[in-house]
Amino acid sequence: MRILYSARMDNRPALPPEIARRRTFAIISHPDAGKTTLTEKFLLFGGAIQMAGQVRAKVEARRTRSDFMQMEKDRGISVSASAMSFDFKNFRFNLVDTPGHSDFSEDTYRTLTAVDAAVMVIDGAKGVESQTRKLFEVCRLRDLPILTFCNKMDRESRDTFEIIDEIQENLAIDVTPASWPIGVGREFLGCYDLLRDRLELIDRADRNRVAESIAIDGLDDPKIAEHVPPHLLEKLREEVEMARELLPALDPQAVLEGHMTPIWFGSAINSFGVRELMEGIGTYGPEPQVQKAQPREIAPEEGKVAGFVFKVQANMDPKHRDRVAFVRMASGHFERGMKLTHVRTKKTMAISNPVLFLASDRELADEAWAGDIIGIPNHGQLRIGDTLTEGELLRVAGIPSFAPELLQTCRAGDPMKAKHLDKALSQFAEEGAAKVFKPTFGSGFIVGVVGALQFEVLASRIEMEYGLPVRFEPSQFTSARWMAGDKAAVDAFAAKNKQHVATDNDGDLVYLTRMQWDIDRVERDHPEIRLTATKEMM
Ligand code: GDP
Repeated sequence: MRILYSARMDNRPALPPEIARRRTFAIISHPDAGKTTLTEKFLLFGGAIQMAGQVRAKVEARRTRSDFMQMEKDRGISVSASAMSFDFKNFRFNLVDTPGHSDFSEDTYRTLTAVDAAVMVIDGAKGVESQTRKLFEVCRLRDLPILTFCNKMDRESRDTFEIIDEIQENLAIDVTPASWPIGVGREFLGCYDLLRDRLELIDRADRNRVAESIAIDGLDDPKIAEHVPPHLLEKLREEVEMARELLPALDPQAVLEGHMTPIWFGSAINSFGVRELMEGIGTYGPEPQVQKAQPREIAPEEGKVAGFVFKVQANMDPKHRDRVAFVRMASGHFERGMKLTHVRTKKTMAISNPVLFLASDRELADEAWAGDIIGIPNHGQLRIGDTLTEGELLRVAGIPSFAPELLQTCRAGDPMKAKHLDKALSQFAEEGAAKVFKPTFGSGFIVGVVGALQFEVLASRIEMEYGLPVRFEPSQFTSARWMAGDKAAVDAFAAKNKQHVATDNDGDLVYLTRMQWDIDRVERDHPEIRLTATKEMM
């Protein structure tokens, strides 16, 4: 590979080769832009063809509501597709799935804390769509490097400059073309690879075949004319000349800092442009990055193992309360059987059956390096935001919990079973599937979610996994805020306002109300108390 180890910030030391070759990323896109198709082609080129069908099956299942419930039941598929590892050239790619449904933005946010880069897929005819913009903003909060793939160039698409302008203006990021499309729609022939002076030609006859690649000597090479008809060639030369004049040149450091995104044009369904994008991820995508933590940062090259849980998922068999915690390795070289310290409880855990999500299949992981994602089966000890280390009391920072936007009261269909409901709800709270608040005054639970569909999913899971029919009813409250600030003031306030106060699953105090006006008033009258819409999970 040409510049294998260049994907490093200027001030970082060289990483051990096993870590330096890892690229851990997620795909962000608006539904229908082609994320699934692109994922399948990644796996195809990553030598894991058998998986491709499964990705498709999972997404089809997600499409309709009833199937969505089925998918929740059919947890096997969603577990194994949550993180996929595959090799491409010298690189090990770890692709972390972002939930597609807009209802799960919090989950998505946390997923993005576990990756070092994002691939943004846009539809060439539609440009930057709403969901893409939202996800992009989340990436921006962390200055995540972003590589862009403009898909569906085999269809009528917008003018290339127009697409680039739209990204620059809408997302306020510099865009540099890595390739330039030749023709569009039915006339789409392929791309000119601006980084390597190559013609990449599409093969429409076989969608899984790798397209033809022709090395040329710049745009004046007479060889081009053998492959590109005169009217397209003239346009290509003109456009590339303009692009080189008007658009910024690729600056690897600016890409790593998240200020510039290189864009590749292609057609995922025709496998076109995908390899170039993968090479781009390898060359310009970052190596495993330093992880923010307390009381100090964790560097990937450190000899000792550290990792953090960014997602918890109930396991396949609903009869057992087993779960899989998804752990992003932040440093070191993990080996199966290692004993790690669970920092929150200071207990030692032997990690004897970790799972590595190799695209070919779920497999027991014998080892993992900084950058990798492993699954740790457990009975509920591991929660989102937890850190595992070889003993040092480090806590990974920056994994947020958001105040829910919808609140409902949850009651057991059979009042005798309220205890079981307590257990079920606290499991879902630990999984991050919902916020559960226990009012200090009165009975029942108040459950908070980001999207309405989650109430239905929860009701169906509680019934299925706990045999417990439940009712969700409108709550008198519409907003929840965590209470922070001076502890004595918070406690005094809580004691005086019992009807409005609850505790969350970690025992932290929450203020519940139905009016923003109330929140403003509390903050005005009690300057020593802060009401926050996010809380860091530590
Ligand atoms: P997702 O919702 O982002 O996962 O999108 P999918 O990968 O499911 O793609 C949405 C639709 O676009 C599907 O019908 C795909 O077959 C189609 N599609 C994906 N890539 C391309 C492409 O390059 N060209 C064309 N014409 N269609 C595509």
